Amino acid sequence: MRFSKIKQNDIANGLGIVMSLWTQGCPHHCKGCFNKETWDFNRGKEFKEQDLNFIIENIDKNNIKRNLSILGGEPLCPKNIDQIINICKVFKEVYPDKLIYIWTGYILEEFNEKQKDILKYINILIDGKFEEKNKNLSIKLRGSSNQRIIDVKKSLEQERVVLLDLEVKTL
Ligand code: SF4
Repeated sequence: MRFSKIKQNDIANGLGIVMSLWTQGCPHHCKGCFNKETWDFNRGKEFKEQDLNFIIENIDKNNIKRNLSILGGEPLCPKNIDQIINICKVFKEVYPDKLIYIWTGYILEEFNEKQKDILKYINILIDGKFEEKNKNLSIKLRGSSNQRIIDVKKSLEQERVVLLDLEVKTL
């Protein structure tokens, strides 16, 4: 898997401070995408063990408690999914109580079996492609109003899509 960048302190892509990982490569090519430099699967850098170690070792650097956000590009496309599952699995082994957010252009109900595997490791899923006609810059964590912020644990428990209650969840 290749990645675009890791941002150690990000307040735009989570509720509270997160460390963010942008994967490289996106098959969706949404009209009006604000992150076109992540489309090309050949750009960016190869994600290596040292990058995962960097995330693990620096997630609380300077005593700042951070959660982890994974964006794209498309983290859950065939070229990226295996590495993303591994990152989430290892991260949760070390930090079971930290949250993992993932942004995807896919829709939860249409996930394939491998994509469903990621659900046991993550907490919040923002799903759906960016839709220019539904663009809204005033809504939290999303670029367009068709995208959903899903509480993954509750969704698995209740076997239905449960949206995150943003009023309750202040992290
Ligand atoms: S899924 Fe995200 S990165 Fe990919 S084209 Fe759509 S908005 Fe851009």
